[in-house]
Amino acid sequence: MSDTQLYPQINPPHRLLMGPGPINADPRVLRAMSSQLIGQYDPVMTGYMNEVMALYRGVFRTQNQWTMLVDGTSRAGIEAVLVSAIRPGDKVLVPVFGRFGHLLCEIARRCHAEVHTIEVPWGEVFTPDQIEDAIRQVKPRLLLTVQGDTSTTMLQPLEELGAICRRHGVLFYTDATASLGGNPLQADEWGLDAVSAGLQKCLGGPSGSSPVTLSPEMASVISKRRCIEQGIRSASHEDGDDEMIWSNYFDLGMIMDYWGPERLNHHTEATSMLFAARECARIMLEEGMDNIIARHALHGRAMVAGIQGMGLSVFGDIANKMNNVMGVVIPENVHGEAVRKTLLEDFHIEIGTSFGPLQGKIWRIGTMGYNARKDCVLQTLAALEAVLNRQGFRTTQGAAMQAAWDIYDAEARP
Ligand SMILES: *Cc1c(COP(=O)(O)O)cnc(C)c1O
Repeated sequence: MSDTQLYPQINPPHRLLMGPGPINADPRVLRAMSSQLIGQYDPVMTGYMNEVMALYRGVFRTQNQWTMLVDGTSRAGIEAVLVSAIRPGDKVLVPVFGRFGHLLCEIARRCHAEVHTIEVPWGEVFTPDQIEDAIRQVKPRLLLTVQGDTSTTMLQPLEELGAICRRHGVLFYTDATASLGGNPLQADEWGLDAVSAGLQKCLGGPSGSSPVTLSPEMASVISKRRCIEQGIRSASHEDGDDEMIWSNYFDLGMIMDYWGPERLNHHTEATSMLFAARECARIMLEEGMDNIIARHALHGRAMVAGIQGMGLSVFGDIANKMNNVMGVVIPENVHGEAVRKTLLEDFHIEIGTSFGPLQGKIWRIGTMGYNARKDCVLQTLAALEAVLNRQGFRTTQGAAMQAAWDIYDAEARP
């Protein structure tokens, strides 16, 4: 047998991805990705880069000039912001309410930051007062937050944190990978200095590109370090403790030079991913940011009603849950992994498992991006209910569907 017979052309099965991400990409995004490549400095390509900057200003709701893509998965955007903003010895404060808060701490430690954390139990979020108290005590240079932590499904309210950060002279970052597009985010109005995201959650694309936006203040902090790298120490620059950014690939100063009018060569922009990111933003802005958030809220509510309708409970503080993902408490005597396996094998539906303290305790079900749709919600509920009954967990047959339909009917009635 020849190698190509052993390894035939790729042909993945049709799955309905209803976990916490990735989800099925919008076919429009896949079509954009299959477009032919053009040269890195072709005016058409640099034109696309400028368009992407403009489109993502709309998505992040910002006027920030420095709104661009970091090539790599969402973690690349997080790492780019952190390595570019954090100087060795900087104090950072991380309110940790799930797995991704720990990731911010881990990356910040690699940047030789002095990392301070506050924590709440998984399933809860922080009040602005708790965060301000910690800022008073720690006096950090940066506040590093996660807006929506998929590990717990919770959404940290950020609206009031920008004003707090300004009062205390703190730079304010959030990882909005899981929440952007499904929940409100107003980068400028909320005083965010940096936001990073990814395509594979509510944006309806594949993983592999990370949109980021930087406030003028954050951009200037990063540019100062860039000047030092280039041996241009500006006279106005007093703090001698700035150091060269240790990463070349994630040096946002260099990435700004590439995306900006100077077009200094850095990496080769990941062209097909840029096509994808551009189409994701176009789809969102066409629908309208408020409408897309409302759509995620509706299908999230329908999924919650259906889950409760079949006698299961929702994990965590529902008032602070992300619209686009929910935790379902696995009932006693039900084998969580066996349920997931049957859903995948017999229905081609994927739902998520969990990590850390929640491992084996909850499933995570997402209704996001291209899959924040009525048919996806109803199919998932019907399948899950059937599998649970098959495994001996008795529900009132059909109750889940009726509960979800009630939500849709109520929405349709003005
Ligand atoms: C899903 C998720 C990510 C994903 O990062 P990748 O590098 O794209 O895998 C990052 N942050 C949060 C909060 C997430 O929910």
